[in-house]
This record gives sequence, structure tokens and C-alpha cells, in this order.
Amino acid sequence: MPAEYVKGLKCRECGRHYEKKPIHVCEFCFGPLEVDYDYDKITKAVSREKILSRDRNMWRYEEFLPLDTKPSVGRGTGFTPLVKADRLAKELGLKELYLKNDAVNYPTLSFKDRVVSVALSKAKEFGFKTVACATTGNLGNSVAAQAVRAGLECYIFMPANLEQGKIIGTSIYGVHVVGISGNYDGVNRLCSEIAGKFGWAFANINMRPFYAEGSKTFGHEICEQLGWKAPKHVIVPMAGGSLICKIDKAVKEFHKTGLIPDADTKIYGAQATGCSPITSAVKNGWELFRPVKPDTIARSIAIGNPADGFYAIKTIKQSGGWAEDVTDPELVEGIKLLARTEGIFTETAGGVTVAVTKKLIEQGRIPKDESVVISITGNGLKTTEAVLPAVQRPDVIEAKLGEFEKLIGVIKERDKAAVPVAAGQ
Ligand SMILES: *Cc1c(COP(=O)(O)O)cnc(C)c1O
Ligand SMILES: [Zn+2]
Repeated sequence: MPAEYVKGLKCRECGRHYEKKPIHVCEFCFGPLEVDYDYDKITKAVSREKILSRDRNMWRYEEFLPLDTKPSVGRGTGFTPLVKADRLAKELGLKELYLKNDAVNYPTLSFKDRVVSVALSKAKEFGFKTVACATTGNLGNSVAAQAVRAGLECYIFMPANLEQGKIIGTSIYGVHVVGISGNYDGVNRLCSEIAGKFGWAFANINMRPFYAEGSKTFGHEICEQLGWKAPKHVIVPMAGGSLICKIDKAVKEFHKTGLIPDADTKIYGAQATGCSPITSAVKNGWELFRPVKPDTIARSIAIGNPADGFYAIKTIKQSGGWAEDVTDPELVEGIKLLARTEGIFTETAGGVTVAVTKKLIEQGRIPKDESVVISITGNGLKTTEAVLPAVQRPDVIEAKLGEFEKLIGVIKERDKAAVPVAAGQ
């Protein structure tokens, strides 16, 4: 049983130990709590063969996840494709490029399905009947979908002005959806108060130590799918800054337990310029970020006061990586670039990540001859508003062959006139 590998919770600042409980802040120093594992025990228990013999989902790494029993929520989540991206690599001038594609994660098409599978399985173990979250969109989609399937009562709190796809992608499950005027940071503040008063399991508040562990499997899978080795460079979109820290943790714990030979991964953080507290801190050499008021179409990563911002800055610096941000027009170009080269439609966060990768390569921050992994964390069908003004609308004709023969001439001319993209670059 996975239970034997978890010692409890531990404060990241003062190191104080706590039992496994739905709490997330140290009572003494207010530092964040993290799950504490017995890595000696895990080292004795795991092997590549054992993992390879299991089902292809995130639970094949169960020794590294904080459940006491088998998962009751999200059994099919994870093990998304690691796509070798030769056409995009060529365009970016890279030798070896991969896309970790959580745009097709199960069941709600974003990496949040990983964290929710752990958070809700754990909430059921703790005996909660009601689950909730504060969301920038994808988390709400996943908590809603997985809560109804698990028979849990569910409340989702989101900024009222999110994209249609994100709102409908939550409401469709028939859960309670509360729109809050203003941005995510207000939603999160309110939810902290509600969590204290109502005693519900908030996936990303009182369940946060457990929730965050689910993100590690994104990193575990990359290592396994690369043939049991750490990637040299990983680019990660940042909202609260949790995923980026957990990819780092995943690589390190796979190394520590003997599953991979090295842990020499450089980690790069990506944000939209309109909400870039973490990238600004890295670029300016600050140890602490300065909270900002978000103003970007990259809603899913628009958190102005990131809960794990401090640790994200530290992780990036210690790994030898870097951070960058891109404007909204640049992120739209990023979405289009990925779509036309690799046939993958990602949401705004993925556009940010692709565009930041391009920028870091141009700056010489990422070398062109080493393996690079771009994290694609969400699906483009949820944020169609972002690209609506930027795509060619269909040519409309009558259902007559002659009409099409006329049109094909127009299409050929148009293609000829279009600047050949990146030809000879
Ligand atoms: C939530 C989210 C992120 C970032 O997650 P954090 O762990 O909060 O940094 C990245 N991409 C997408 C699509 C997301 O929904
Ligand atoms: Zn503490």
C-alpha cells in the first residue's frame, strides 16, 4: 500500500512535522506544508520493471503519491503522449524537441486532471462529502467533472469573466458554480475564508499539499518516456508556480531512488507579460516576487500573487534555467506555430510556453543541440476566443464544381502571395 511511504507533512520553512491532515500552513511559521516521503523505503520498493508492468496512467508511480488506499478518483488520468516534434524543432533551430501533451489528458484535457485525481482521492480518504476550488478555469473543469463521478457535492469559484469554454466546461456537470467579480486573486482570498468556515475540501487550499503532488507525475512521465532519463531543458508555464516546482521534484526523486542516472535538468518558467510576477523576479534578480494585477488573455495562468512564486524563483535559479514572458500577440503566434507545425491545438498557456521557448532560443539561453521538452498543459478548444481574430475564415461557395474550380485559383494565388513561413531559416 502506498501509505507506508508517506511519513506525514513537513513545513518547507522550519521543517516541523505534521500528521497527514487536510492542512496546508505551518502553525508556527506560516510556511507551506509539503508531503514528506520515506525515500529509503521507496528506493527498496520501486524498479523500472515494476512501473512498466502497471497500467499506463499516473498511478503507475503510486509510491510517489500520498494516498493511503488505491485511488478512488481519476483512475485513468495521465500517461499522456510525449511527442517528438521534428517540424517545430526545425522551425526553432533545435536538434531534439519533445512536447509533453496534457492537452489530451483525461478526463478534462488539461494537466489539472493530475492534481485533482490526487486531491479528490485524498478528500474521500479524509471523509469529506463536499469538494471545492478557486480556479482560473482548468481546475474548475476537472474538480467538477471528477466530483460528480465520485458522488461528491461540489462548489466551484471562478472569476466571472472567464472564457466561455471554461465556464461551460464546468457548468455542464451540474455542480454549483459561483462567479466572482474581479480577478483570481480575490477569488482565492475569498475561498481561503470559506474553507476555514465551511469545512470543505478545497483542492488547492487545504488539500494543497496533496494536490500539488499530482503534478509530479507530469515530470515522472517525461523521464520514463525519454527512456528513463532526465530531460536537459524543460519549459513550464507558471500560474501559482506549483507545477514547475513539482517537475523539478519529480526528476530529483527519480534520481534519488535510482530510476534515472542523472538529475541535470534546467528548468525555465513561462508567463504572459500581462501577469509576470515570477518571470520579472527572475529577470531582475529578486528573491521575492512583487504581486501584480493581471491583464492578459492567458487567463489560466493569470495569478498576480502566486502561492508558490517564491519557490518557483528558487527552483529556476538553482536548476540553472531562466524565465521569460511574452505579450498576448506573441502567445497567439505561439498557439498558431504549434498548430501548423505539429497539429496540436493548445490553449493560451501553451501559446505562452511555445512563444517563450522561441524567445529563450533566440536569446541563446537554451542551446540548440540538447534535448528540450515543452510543457503543453491545456487544450485550445477551451480558449477559442483568443485565436478567433487570428485565423483564416473558411471560403464559402455554392455546392457547384465550377465554383470550386474558380476558388482553387484564388487559393493558389493566396498561398503564393503568403510569405513562406521560416523558409531557409
Ligand atoms: C493551472 C495551469 C498552469 C499552471 O499551474 P501552477 O501549478 O499553478 O503554476 C499551467 N497551465 C495550465 C493550462 C493551467 O491550467
Ligand atoms: Zn514552519
